[in-house]
Amino acid sequence: MQDFHIGKLVVVGVGLIGGSVAAALKRERLVDRVVGVGRSRANMQQALSAGVIDEQAQDLTSAARGAELVLVAVPVRQTASVLQQLRQAVADGVIVTDAGSTKRDFVHMARDIFGSSVKHVVPGHPIAGAERSGVAAATADLYTGKRVVLTPLPDNENKFVERVASMWRACGANVIQMSPEHHDAVFSAVSHLPHVLSYALVELIASRDNAEELFSFAAGGFRDFTRIAGSSPEMWRDICDANADQLLRDIDAFQQALSLLAGYIRSGDMDKVEAVFAAAARARNAWVNSLK
Ligand code: NAD
Repeated sequence: MQDFHIGKLVVVGVGLIGGSVAAALKRERLVDRVVGVGRSRANMQQALSAGVIDEQAQDLTSAARGAELVLVAVPVRQTASVLQQLRQAVADGVIVTDAGSTKRDFVHMARDIFGSSVKHVVPGHPIAGAERSGVAAATADLYTGKRVVLTPLPDNENKFVERVASMWRACGANVIQMSPEHHDAVFSAVSHLPHVLSYALVELIASRDNAEELFSFAAGGFRDFTRIAGSSPEMWRDICDANADQLLRDIDAFQQALSLLAGYIRSGDMDKVEAVFAAAARARNAWVNSLK
């Protein structure tokens, strides 16, 4: 943690994810100056008054001049326009990284926009978060003990990857690497699909005529299953769009799994239902125990 120090850090999108990086580095006094670039005036005011950023910049292109590192932490559909504004900085050697939940789209965009300067761009995704958004939800502890996936490009020099990795380690995270393709397949299954299911279930209940009554009886299980349906709709719309091919494969697989169970229930084959539940319970308990 001690071997990292940065002069000027620019955070584009000072929400939960970007704000938490700034808060962690500032708490450890590992950054001299954080310049924030944002979309919502109220959120940026809050970031300034909470001391998460030192300065707010209106113009990203000039804010990035002289920065050591730029962290892009906006909903993924915003990334292309943000990267366009970073062309000069990247050509000048400023390191750019991101926190987006999908990686193949980021890599394509970065290659298209930066050409050979893409060697300064290191894609990343912190495996930490919450269903809350905005800088009000940011915390210096968000990344403690969590993992960050980097999906480096063959063009990246090792020193750029190492610089980004050490920033995340300075925030308390463990850094691992994988390919963008593998990343998008893994997180489609364990993150993107569950969010779609959770939103779909809540919407199914909410659209019924007796929704009020149904919600009044919903208890702990419903609350656990649907916590993530409180997440930012914009963020999750963008993730579904960016990872659509992989996500649709997982939705199909889930529909098949559901059809299989429905078939067992319809035919009264309750031994098979129990066997599916037992296998799932074993897998779930083993996973939870492995986290301890
Ligand atoms: P957030 O809504 O809390 O913050 C995003 C911020 O970006 C907002 O303050 C918004 O005003 C700002 N913004 C939007 N468009 C912008 C633009 N064009 N220029 C500048 N600022 C802009 O969202 P978040 O949870 O911090 O997510 C940020 C990124 O991190 C997303 O790409 C998301 O996929 C990824 N991510 C989120 C989580 C999570 O659990 N929330 C986890 C890992 C990665």
